[in-house]
Amino acid sequence: MKLNAAAEMEAITWPGFNQVHPYAPVEDAPGLIKLIEDLEGWLCAVTGYDRVSLQPNAGSQGEYAGLLAIRRYHLDRGDSHRDTCLIPASAHGTNAASAAMVGMRVEVVKTSPNGDIDLDDLRAKIADHAERLACIMITYPSTHGVYEHEVAELCELVHEAGGQVYVDGANLNALVGLARPGKFGGDVSHLNLHKTFCIPHGGGGPGVGPVAVREHLAQYLPGDPLVKGSHAVSAAMYGSASILPITWAYIRMMGADGLRRATLTAIASANYIARKLDPHFPVLYTGDNGMVAHECILDLREITKRTGVTVDDVAKRLADYGFHAPTMSFPVAGTLMVEPTESENLEELDAFIAAMIAIKGEIDQVEAGVWPVEDNPLRGAPHTAECLVGEWDHPYTRETAVYPMGVKHTRAKVWPSVRRIDGAYGDRNLVCSCPPLDAYAE
Ligand SMILES: *Cc1c(COP(=O)(O)O)cnc(C)c1O
Repeated sequence: MKLNAAAEMEAITWPGFNQVHPYAPVEDAPGLIKLIEDLEGWLCAVTGYDRVSLQPNAGSQGEYAGLLAIRRYHLDRGDSHRDTCLIPASAHGTNAASAAMVGMRVEVVKTSPNGDIDLDDLRAKIADHAERLACIMITYPSTHGVYEHEVAELCELVHEAGGQVYVDGANLNALVGLARPGKFGGDVSHLNLHKTFCIPHGGGGPGVGPVAVREHLAQYLPGDPLVKGSHAVSAAMYGSASILPITWAYIRMMGADGLRRATLTAIASANYIARKLDPHFPVLYTGDNGMVAHECILDLREITKRTGVTVDDVAKRLADYGFHAPTMSFPVAGTLMVEPTESENLEELDAFIAAMIAIKGEIDQVEAGVWPVEDNPLRGAPHTAECLVGEWDHPYTRETAVYPMGVKHTRAKVWPSVRRIDGAYGDRNLVCSCPPLDAYAE
């Protein structure tokens, strides 16, 4: 998660930005239009593409808009048979869903044991589908958090076969100021302004997923939703326009040098965490040089097999230590994916690392039989203030539960407000937590 600085957020509280009707005549919103044009230009410069549309409201909607552009490009050239989209096994779930939504057939390309796309399997899949190949959708750096050296060659293979290359740009925090997808082989990408460009992320939006294309696809970008047959993907020309000032302010305040420094810092932070934690929780994928990109996957599967302590236990226990858990079980089940970004300083990174190492120490105690697998500080996590009062019949102390590193530990104590819930049950069953209708009878 990136810092959402107050200075970036302030302008969205101004009526000039947040009270503009989505269909207001452009002459009524000259400031907003100028801001949109600035942003389109900057995002072209950052990505190396020729044109950008800010219309999509999410990354997934950007994918949809980008694939629609590819589909229409092929149709215009009389290539209606080009309907196959190659997607590597490591891809984000939205990729295949978007391809299905534009009517493409999805073919999965294997990944090799090191996590990279298997180029031999790619060659085979291209040969299999030849005339039907519409495009490939890749994420760069990959969802495994590694820069794949063969990306330029991969793009060439697809282009030679008449396909287009979609580069999922949600991982742009590892590229901004260093490499541009529009220059290393991409024809189209989406970005996530609510990830890389500081719009708050989570809670269901709103987001902005701009779609950027090379010149030959520019005419297929989403058009004005008020014009019939314009292939708009959202009900408003500029989508979630009222939150664009956040990204504008971030880019404007950082400048080109600042953005590049942010990327380098994010990469350094991810590698720092990877090196420090690898002896305790093995890092699953690294590049040829042993380095990761902007995130690292910590593999807990062996630990779970050996000790019974799960990735959930570790994630929940982090709350007792005062940390929000990193991404769990994506893209690989049973692992944690840590993406520190440039926003955390060294002190905070060190505190996180210390907490993870202390948690590993607790796991070792479970393995040694000091605590049973069903009742230990990890399985009991997170611990609320409420659970401390009254009877206590666990084999570990109250202090261990809520002050695992000691009361004098310098970080301010964060008290989780709820204990563990059955997340999977909640995902699969509709649970109504509102009062019954009779409660409103009076
Ligand atoms: C987040 C993400 C998406 C989807 O973005 P949404 O805004 O959540 O729809 C797509 N691809 C990758 C690699 C992502 O990380």
